Amino acid sequence: MSQDPTLCGFVNLLLIPYLYNRSYFEKHEILPIGELEHGAPGLVSDYEKIFKVKGVTACAGMLKLLGLHKRLANKRPCPCGSGRRLGRCHNFVLNPLRRMASRSEFRHHLRILLSQGGALNRW
Ligand SMILES: [Zn+2]
Repeated sequence: MSQDPTLCGFVNLLLIPYLYNRSYFEKHEILPIGELEHGAPGLVSDYEKIFKVKGVTACAGMLKLLGLHKRLANKRPCPCGSGRRLGRCHNFVLNPLRRMASRSEFRHHLRILLSQGGALNRW
C-alpha cells in the first residue's frame, strides 16, 4: 500500500486480487493466489520479507528495535545475528519503516508475536 496509498491503490492492489481469489474459489474450490497466514504466523511471514531475516526471534528483535528511538536502536546488536550493531547492519532496512508506522504500532505487533508464542513453535 505504501507504493500507492489511495483508494484506487487499495482497490487495485488488495480488493481486486482478493475478490478474484474468492470468486475463483467459489467456482473451482481452490485458491489460485493462495491464502496468507493469519495472526502471529502471518506477521512473522510478512516481517521476514520486510526485514530480510529468518525466524520469529529475529523478527521480534527487529520489532523491539523499531519500538525504540532510532539513535538508541542503532547502538544495539542487530537481531539478524551478524554480530554488528544495527547502525552498521540492517538500519538501511529498518529506518525507512519508521516513516510508515509509529513506535507504538511496532511495539503492538511485538506484543502480538509474544502473546501468541505457542502458535509459533514451528518456527
Ligand atoms: Zn543485521
